[in-house]
Formats: sequence, C-alpha cells, structure tokens
Amino acid sequence: MVRESNGDRADIGVIGGSGFYSFLDDVTEVTVETPYGPPSDSLFLGEVAGRRVAFLPRHGRRHHLPPSSINYRANLWALASVGARQVLGPCAVGGLHPEHGPGTLLVPDQLVDRTKSRTQSYFDGEPRPDGLVPRVVHTAFADPYCPVGRETAVTAARGAGWDAVDGGTMVVIEGPRFSTRAESRWHAAQGWSVVGMTGHPEAVLARELGLCYTSLALVTDLDAGAAAGEGVSHEEVMEVFAANVDRLRTTLFDVVGKLPVEQDCTLCPHARGSMDPGIPLP
Ligand SMILES: [Zn+2]
Repeated sequence: MVRESNGDRADIGVIGGSGFYSFLDDVTEVTVETPYGPPSDSLFLGEVAGRRVAFLPRHGRRHHLPPSSINYRANLWALASVGARQVLGPCAVGGLHPEHGPGTLLVPDQLVDRTKSRTQSYFDGEPRPDGLVPRVVHTAFADPYCPVGRETAVTAARGAGWDAVDGGTMVVIEGPRFSTRAESRWHAAQGWSVVGMTGHPEAVLARELGLCYTSLALVTDLDAGAAAGEGVSHEEVMEVFAANVDRLRTTLFDVVGKLPVEQDCTLCPHARGSMDPGIPLP
C-alpha cells in the first residue's frame, strides 16, 4: 500500500524515465502495490510549477523492461492510487513520413493498436487476487486522448519554440523489434503518422480509470519505410532522445503548470462516471 502522508499524493502523473525528475529537489520515492502486481518501478513524487507530480519510469529505472513486459495495468493503477487524474505519456516514436523527421514532437489525436500479447483492460472477467471479479465494460474510446491535455501540450511546445505537430495517428506495434520496410510502408500508406511500442494499452487503461491521458511523441528516427540506408537502430533512437530530453522536459513541465487544477475535461472522467465496473477504482 501507499504510505499515507500528504507528501505521497500527486495530481499529475508522468510516465517517463529518470531524465525527467532526477534533478528535482525533494523527490520522494514511494513504493506502490496494486491488485495487478507491481508497477515498472517506484513512483518518484516531487513538485513542478506548484503541482504535485508522480513520475514513473515506464521501462524501470534500469531500462530493463521491454514494451511487451511492462505491467501497464499496474502502472496506471499506481498513478491513480496516489491521486493523479491527469497523466502525460511522453514516448519515443519513429516517423512514417519524411516531414516528421528526428526531433519532431507530435501530439497524436488518434491511435491504431497493432499489439498482440498485452492485457488491454481492467474488465477482463478474470478474478483479481483479492477475489473481485470485474463486470464486462465496453469503454468509449473514439477519441483516445484528452482534448484538454492535447491542447495544453501543443501550446506549451510551441511556446518553447518547438514546431509541434497538432494531431496525427500513432500506430503501436508489439516490438521489441522495429518494423520491416514492408510493414513501415504499409503503416505510412494508411495515413498513419508515427509508430511506437508503448502507447497502447497505456491510453485505454487510463481511459478505463477515467484519467485524462495525453501522449507527447518525440520522433527519434525515420522508420524503415521512410528512411534511406539501413533502417532504424537502437543507438540512433537513444542518441536523438538524449539530444532532445532537455527540451522535452522543459515542455512537459510547462504542460504540468498549465493543466487545469480541477480536472475540467468532460470526456475522460465521463468514461469513469458512466460505468459500474464492479471493482472499486483508485
Ligand atoms: Zn480529459
């Protein structure tokens, strides 16, 4: 369970690595257990722009969890259980079109799920360790991202001098391998913008919990179908991410400061309010 004290609460969750919080003063590490097992790591709670923020390293602090092994349900549940109702999900993606080259920040408004082996719902009919059995719930997901969070993110990024792309479709693949050229060309031909490996089921699980979820997709490479040469390499991705992490952090912190204090979005919390899942939500 979460240790009970005011310092262990947060309004906003950020799912991203240590580059986002390691230099903050007064970071509290909090271990959270969930009915779905352990999250990727401890939560790291600190203050940004006057708001309480819980940071969670998506791949674990040692970056040891591949996208398919991340316990997405535990991650979102842990953030919700410390009080977070708005979640920012920065992630590295490949660009499917030459105009979305390395260094582009895209704030997607649509998502296509091409993952294969991930638990996608809290309402899977399976009894939890505590004996509760969730009912079947079909969550509305036509617009997978929070409109308030998206607008805030685009404005903040542009304010920081980043030519942010407002909208686009992120296709999420199973990984951990990158796409073949044929897969990549097919993704591009569908009109999709970027390809990632972690954006789903993160987004839908946030929606099931009634959290406002916003993805900030940093393009680290041109995907195989759009790139000349040998295709994507892991080193290339890490290099571009490192080169942009300061700017991404500045933008994220600006978003944190500009998100409404009250969760005033009418879309995401409505999903939570309109359902009777048979399990108490955090
Ligand atoms: Zn929302």
